[in-house]
Parts: sequence; C-alpha cells; structure tokens
Amino acid sequence: MNVPDLAAPLPFTDLRAQYLALHDSIHARLQRVLDHGQYIMGPEVGELEKRLAGFVGVRHCIGVASGTEALLIAMMALDLKPGDEVITTPFTFAATAEMIVLLGGKPVFVDVETDTCLIDATLIEAAITPRTRAIMPVSLYGQVGDMAPINAIAARHGLAVIEDAAQSFGAMYQGRRSAGLSTWGATSFFPSKPLGCYGDGGALFTDDDALAQAAREIRVHGQSGRYVHTRVGVGGRLDTLQAAVLLAKFERFEWELQRRREIGDRYGELLAGLPGLKMLTIRGDRDCVWGQYTVFVEDRAEVQSALQSLGVPTAVHYPKPLHHQAAYAAFCCAQCCPVSQTVAESVLSLPMSADLGHVDQERVVAALKRALAR
Ligand SMILES: *Cc1c(COP(=O)(O)O)cnc(C)c1O
Repeated sequence: MNVPDLAAPLPFTDLRAQYLALHDSIHARLQRVLDHGQYIMGPEVGELEKRLAGFVGVRHCIGVASGTEALLIAMMALDLKPGDEVITTPFTFAATAEMIVLLGGKPVFVDVETDTCLIDATLIEAAITPRTRAIMPVSLYGQVGDMAPINAIAARHGLAVIEDAAQSFGAMYQGRRSAGLSTWGATSFFPSKPLGCYGDGGALFTDDDALAQAAREIRVHGQSGRYVHTRVGVGGRLDTLQAAVLLAKFERFEWELQRRREIGDRYGELLAGLPGLKMLTIRGDRDCVWGQYTVFVEDRAEVQSALQSLGVPTAVHYPKPLHHQAAYAAFCCAQCCPVSQTVAESVLSLPMSADLGHVDQERVVAALKRALAR
C-alpha cells in the first residue's frame, strides 16, 4: 500500500461532501418551506413520517425534536411513573439513562457483552423486579442488540421494550429494520448520526395505535385538539426545515447505508490481525451501519495522540460507563457492570461517513499502523 499524504487533517464525519452531493435537492426542499412558511408541523413533517414508517416497516412514525426527546416521549406515552424501573446499559450516551431519571424512574444497569458492547440479554431477567416497566437496549455503534430474547423476556414479564436506535437507523436484525423491532424504536437525527439533519431532530416508531396517538399528543403539549390538553406533554416537535433536510438526505440513504457497510468491511479487512487492536464483533443475524466505527486498542491515550499528530481525528464513545458518572453513580455500585468499565478503557472511534474515500481510509489505516507500532 502507498503511504498517503499525511499533511491535511481529515474530517471525523464528512458532512461537507454529503452536502455538496445533495446540494440542489437540499436547497429546493428548504426553499419550498421558506415559500409556504409553515415552519411548525408543515407538510414536510407528515411526508417524512410516512416515508420513514414505510422504510422501517411499522405503522407509525412520529417526528420529534431530538433523540433525547424521542426517549422521553416514548416513556411518557407508556405512562412511566416515579419509582418505576427501566433496565438498560451503562455503556451508552447519557441521554439513555437521563430521560428515565428525569421522569423519576430508576435506571437499572445491566452489563454489556465484551465483544459487541451491547446489553447482555442473558443478564436481564435477573434484574427484573415488581417495579420494572421497560427494557431499553441501546443499538450502540449501529448494531442492534439481541432483540429476539429481549422481546421474549419482556413478553413473559409484561414489559415494554424501547430500542435506543439513535446510532443504528437503517440497520437490519433478522431481516427487519432497527427501530421497528419492539414496542418503541427511538432514533436521532443529530447531524453525525447515520441519517442526520442540520440541527436537532429525532423520531419514534411503533406499531401500536394507542401509543402512537399518545406520543403525537405529548409532542404538542398533550393536546388532542387545538387548546384541548388531555395530558401533560412537552414542546417536542420536529421542525419543518429539519424534515425538509431529511427528505432530501433520504433520497440517497440506501446508498449511504451500503457505503457504510462497505467502508466498515474494508476497515475490518485492512486492520485485521494488527497487534494491540481488536475489532468489534458483528453477529451473524444482523448488520452494522457503523454509527461510529469503533475498535478496541491497548494504550488508547498514546494511540489517540499519535493519530492526532498524524492528522487523523478520533473520538471515544464513551470514556466512562454511566454508573461512574456523578449524575448516575447512585443507581449502581461502582464494581457493578465490570465489562462496561473494561470496554470504556479501550474503545476508539475512527473517521467514518458514507463519503469516506479509499485514499482517506487508507490514510487512517496507515496512521493507525504507525501509531500502534510506537
Ligand atoms: C445521540 C444519542 C442520543 C441522543 O440523541 P440526540 O438527538 O442528540 O438528543 C441518545 N442515545 C444514544 C445512544 C445516542 O447516541
């Protein structure tokens, strides 16, 4: 392999190339909104919801203000009460547990699998108590957790399952799409997620008519009609302008998913067998859309700073499991969930986007080889 030019820094997520590729349709979509002027709940929101519900393969999609808001509204629609318990993983972004706590609920942390960083389904049943209301698996890095056994456990105990699909929109599990696999699927359109808008946005997915109706009301202050407040809600709508951006980006989303899988496979081939590095396992009954392209490395701090000096940006998702964060320490003992602590010490995310070209990817690989050899 040629050692490519190591001068100019690479973007961690290349939103610029995507913008240039979709320039005309993004501008046309935005212009249409500026012309009709319906900035709140304009026709683009409904159009997007219809498209995405069809894509995921469920009856209902509800566009909301963010992925965090999606989790909040999903639990409000389930009528989560103070003291109710929700089983989830501590190895995730804070929003997952944050919304449980905000509603007065208690996150019950269950450890993750060493090779996938996804919730260990075999540990869930032991964590169920009479207060358990829901299980919230996180489809971390773009790979769905083991939803079949999780759904079976939930059915046995009468629990809801809320998939935090913020990093996995478009991923497949046993022939079906992420976010359409359980009671609720909650995704995020934060710019760097697999399907991203130009600000904050998110969506909820369900096949349950009553839950969908509840969520539609909750996102507009609990209104069942104009100024008819049947329940307590939030201001949680998706902006029309963001829906317009998403409609434009959705035009080539299937292509982007394919690119992400190919780039992920290529990283796997180019990095396989390097000393000091281990790859994430992708299970045979699913794929990964690489919301983050994450590997395990020894001596992460050194590798990361060596890569930085070679112009390759990296990130750590996440440096600490939530039960080691001050805001969530009360919910779990420090020694609990040891695998989450172990993986938190070695995970490293590399540049990934649908527009990452061969040459740039080779540059990342060459830099990583040099960093690991130091
Ligand atoms: C990004 C993310 C969220 C929150 O989504 P926002 O749109 O930023 O509110 C929640 N959970 C996980 C796992 C995420 O990666």
